[in-house]
Amino acid sequence: MDDYMENNSGYSWLDDPEKVLKETGVVLDGHFLLTSGKHSNRFLQCSQLLQYPEYVETLGSKMAAPFREQDIKTVIGPAMGGVILSYEVARQLGARAIYAEPEGNLMVLRRGFKVGSGERILVVEDAVSTGGSVQKVIDLLRSLDAEPAGVSIIFDRSSGKVDFGIPTSSVFNMEIKSYDPSECPLCKEGTPLEKPKGR
Ligand SMILES: [Zn+2]
Repeated sequence: MDDYMENNSGYSWLDDPEKVLKETGVVLDGHFLLTSGKHSNRFLQCSQLLQYPEYVETLGSKMAAPFREQDIKTVIGPAMGGVILSYEVARQLGARAIYAEPEGNLMVLRRGFKVGSGERILVVEDAVSTGGSVQKVIDLLRSLDAEPAGVSIIFDRSSGKVDFGIPTSSVFNMEIKSYDPSECPLCKEGTPLEKPKGR
């Protein structure tokens, strides 16, 4: 692992992320059944990356960079991935970290977390495809009269297509193709179908 960490020469594992992403098991190649019922040749297991504080520190720096001069008071993420990310990004911005949790079809604040009127808040998330969870957090903040000031994502699986209407930044653009089972090329090849673990 040490080979890929940032060192004094300025080398960062983000200069060659594919190797780390494969070795840590974040990027899985195969034939996967998605929760949508579609099939895919690639799956992201973001928690595999979040178990290494060194990598999260480097990512957090990238995620925080566009928002350093934006007067961010608080960073929020949807649980679970957003718990770790909001903490690290907030640490690097000198801000506060909280997280939102799903309740029915909404995201809510629990555990006594509060936001102030007009408080500038950055939303972070590990991976976004349709952006549903992030949008729910934005809606939550607006309902509490806070100001969603931006969105910072590790993996944008939509290749920039997702639009929250506020400044959005991602570390990686990684469009992952998915197929209807009837049209799946991996099914046609006879590759066994896997269900990703831990969903
Ligand atoms: Zn298939």
